[in-house]
Amino acid sequence: MTQMTASPRAIIPSVDRILNQPEMSAVLADHGRAAATDAVRTVLASLRRRMAEDADAVRDDAEPAAVVARVEAVLEALARPSLKRVFNLTGTVLHTNLGRAPLPQVAIDAMAQAAGACNLEYDLDTGTRGDRDSHLEPLLTRLTGAEAATVVNNNAAAVLLVLGTLAQGREVLVSRGELVEIGGAFRIPDIMTRAGCTLREVGTTNRTHLRDYETNINEDSALVMKVHASNYAIQGFTASPAESDLAQAAHARDLPFVVDLGAGALVDLERYGLPHEPTPQETLAAGADLVTFSGDKLLGGPQAGLIVGRADLIAQIKKNPMKRAMRLDKTTIAALEAVLRLYDNPDRLATQMPTMNLLSRSSAEIRALAERLLPSVAQRLDGIAHVTVEDCRSQIGSGSLPVDLLESSALAIRTVQQGRGSARVLTGIVDAFRALPAPVIGRIQDNTFFLDLRCLTDEAAFAAQLDRLNLT
Ligand SMILES: *Cc1c(COP(=O)(O)O)cnc(C)c1O
Repeated sequence: MTQMTASPRAIIPSVDRILNQPEMSAVLADHGRAAATDAVRTVLASLRRRMAEDADAVRDDAEPAAVVARVEAVLEALARPSLKRVFNLTGTVLHTNLGRAPLPQVAIDAMAQAAGACNLEYDLDTGTRGDRDSHLEPLLTRLTGAEAATVVNNNAAAVLLVLGTLAQGREVLVSRGELVEIGGAFRIPDIMTRAGCTLREVGTTNRTHLRDYETNINEDSALVMKVHASNYAIQGFTASPAESDLAQAAHARDLPFVVDLGAGALVDLERYGLPHEPTPQETLAAGADLVTFSGDKLLGGPQAGLIVGRADLIAQIKKNPMKRAMRLDKTTIAALEAVLRLYDNPDRLATQMPTMNLLSRSSAEIRALAERLLPSVAQRLDGIAHVTVEDCRSQIGSGSLPVDLLESSALAIRTVQQGRGSARVLTGIVDAFRALPAPVIGRIQDNTFFLDLRCLTDEAAFAAQLDRLNLT
């Protein structure tokens, strides 16, 4: 039982008393009365809880000036942006949970330009209403060789819109090997249902032949679809028809051939020392009538879904009222336009486009960076953990090229003390890195905390906050 030296009422001030403190007037002006009152209640409630355990210990904290200071701290914490810059040292370059492609500066500048009033749907030549796709369509058709193009919020929306426009109430032929789930809730069979079409599975998981498509085409068929196997690979005894054959088979029965490419690199990645990834250009050249792909995967731009292909089909898609519900915001259009312009000069892509820069970074450069950072990180963790530089492999991420890994280097952090309790210590280190002003996110594997340095570009900012690591 606690020794009752005073009642809570006598020690803890009232909400009104705090609100009427002279120092509160600035706080009320900055944060508003409603938020400030909530914060006061929160602070007082916490004092009351602590008081139940030890009345004397809260006496100083219950002084009105101390309460006001605490209220200010609570309000400032609440006012901090929820969306923060982080260091992505997970080793996955296009990390969906960490915002995928980092935007190039030209795209950031373009977003700021477009943030105010802009000619989003206004034709400056004629002074009449314009089309928001007009800012992107000429660039997209030039870069991909497509007749026409349109853009929506993300690739999932692009697929949904294509299916809902061209195949509602009818059948879509897809290979059983392509009925994939691409992270979160994007599953091809579910998208089909939501788009109001019927999935016609053809072939088997590992082998699907041209005749499997041909024998399943009937009067209810709306289109033939191919989904690029993004985040997994089927290896061994496998078969799938060439895209050009599939296109021919579809066209022979007057059906469009649609390809969901997913990552959709706009340039041949081999030019940057990376494994080949099919491009929309190649896919269209092979006979696809429509190709869909993401803006924030290998393209290196903002979140968007791009649809390129036959003019008559794109025209139908643009007329679908659902398109209106999926349209892009002006700042996204601005960013995407700036990113697409970078592709006019592929030689400079590796320096100007962060995604390409990170993906093509040499292992020697990353290793040198790791060696430079090792002493300061090791010193900061001295006595708690050993830090070494180790070879590792980064992944492209976002479902692209799942089997190809990029040589990289990591700072490997292992607790000094092994065995019992070491997992808790390691978790403490991981938490401390995550609690930094610019949170550092790594990867835990085999009781080791790895910081893969492939995506570390601001070395100075990383080093500068090391002394703020709060290791308990
Ligand atoms: C990533 C991906 C999608 C979803 O694209 P979002 O832009 O994330 O909506 C769809 N299909 C494939 C094949 C993908 O790889």
